[in-house]
Amino acid sequence: MSKLEIKQIGKTYTNGVQAVQDFSLDVTEGEFVVLVGPSGCGKSTVLRMIAGLESISEGQMALDQTRINEMPPRERNIAMVFQNYALYPHMTVYDNMAFCLKQEKKSKEEIDQSVHEVAARLDIEDLLKRKPKTLSGGERQRVAMGRAIVRQPKLFLMDEPLSNLDAKLRSRMRREIARLHKELEATIIYVTHDQVEAMTLGTKIVVMKDGRIQQIDTPENLYYQP
Ligand code: ADP
Ligand code: ADP
Repeated sequence: MSKLEIKQIGKTYTNGVQAVQDFSLDVTEGEFVVLVGPSGCGKSTVLRMIAGLESISEGQMALDQTRINEMPPRERNIAMVFQNYALYPHMTVYDNMAFCLKQEKKSKEEIDQSVHEVAARLDIEDLLKRKPKTLSGGERQRVAMGRAIVRQPKLFLMDEPLSNLDAKLRSRMRREIARLHKELEATIIYVTHDQVEAMTLGTKIVVMKDGRIQQIDTPENLYYQP
């Protein structure tokens, strides 16, 4: 990905709730952008609009100079990791990871190689034959990441991916996400209400309140605010 450009997008739900207003943001390759703010401030709505899971009421969105306002989610090449994992329960870990690649009509050999390579990277090779319900929370979260990574998306969207984990596992997974960001040179937009998570992971922090951006800055500059 070279660039995601978001210009003054807004979202008013059908029930009249103005969830997001006048939201503008540029995301360039390799950035780790964190959206932070209290529950209900519009973070998930922004992510869902970028993913194409929610329509945009106002504004423009372009990925590599192509307008994506109306582009179906599948064509955007954007992967999303949720807090509740959203794995397919009846499929093995392998099939969960292979699912999107099969839909893209990749060859069996190609799929097999990608799944094993990513599984090795995430240390989940031993889990490939298991079903999600037999896994721990941390293992499920790894699988969910693996499923996103095999697709080699232009952009990763993560919505509170660690919030269902206990504190110890959370800090371990946080380090792991930071490592993956570096190794894969991935571009990530990450949602959290946790300031420590925001400060330790982000290269750019977007502070939101009541559906609007309050401030955008590097973690260093935000930290040294009086
Ligand atoms: P956050 O992710 O920061 O917790 P959300 O984007 O989930 O915030 O929600 C922003 C606002 O929009 C909240 O007031 C929420 O109740 C409302 N909202 C979210 N989803 C919907 C929906 N599908 N329909 C109506 N209102 C919604
Ligand atoms: P999060 O803040 O983590 O995104 P929520 O618990 O706020 O999750 O929302 C869960 C689901 O409920 C989302 O799909 C959201 O769109 C929907 N939702 C949230 N608030 C409302 C609302 N006021 N009216 C209708 N749907 C809502």
